[in-house]
Amino acid sequence: MQEPTHILTGAIIQKAFGGIKSRGIGLGLTAVVAFLSHGFLDELARTTYHPADPDFHSPFWIRYHFAVAVTSIIFIFWLWKQCKWGIFFAALPDVDWIFIHGQEIFDIKVPFYQHPHLHDLLHLIYHHIPPFSWLTALLDRLPNNRHSPWACLWEVLLVAVMLLALRLMNMAQKSAVKPFINCGS
Ligand SMILES: [Zn+2]
Repeated sequence: MQEPTHILTGAIIQKAFGGIKSRGIGLGLTAVVAFLSHGFLDELARTTYHPADPDFHSPFWIRYHFAVAVTSIIFIFWLWKQCKWGIFFAALPDVDWIFIHGQEIFDIKVPFYQHPHLHDLLHLIYHHIPPFSWLTALLDRLPNNRHSPWACLWEVLLVAVMLLALRLMNMAQKSAVKPFINCGS
């Protein structure tokens, strides 16, 4: 999925675990679930517009990815202070692409980072380890829309639903006598 989706997912996960009394356990669970959420969302990406390779000849691809980059920056500015732990772990696997594309752009070679190690790990989990592999088997039944520009609307809809969820969580947080959800910042 695109980065704004991972960012919002990480924020929601951190808020969901914010009510746990032990801060250490809350943050530990946030880290694990946020990291695993990246693998789930990347499996779900087949239903949305998500071509495997950049297409700099497509004006739509360029405009869409520009909008994605701007939205990512806005979301990070908005949510980082409150939910940095969840956002960090939800987005962490995409460090793979920074290393891999960075080497192509700067024409350098980092010998230990020739493969997307974190995505390989998530792929292993979501394709070989139950119950994650069962989930992937279900997701594989969904239509493959990776190359259909219209399918970006599915991801836009998911982002809208998550924004609404965050708003509801914030409202619940404010109205609670004893705050039962917070990002622990
Ligand atoms: Zn990814």
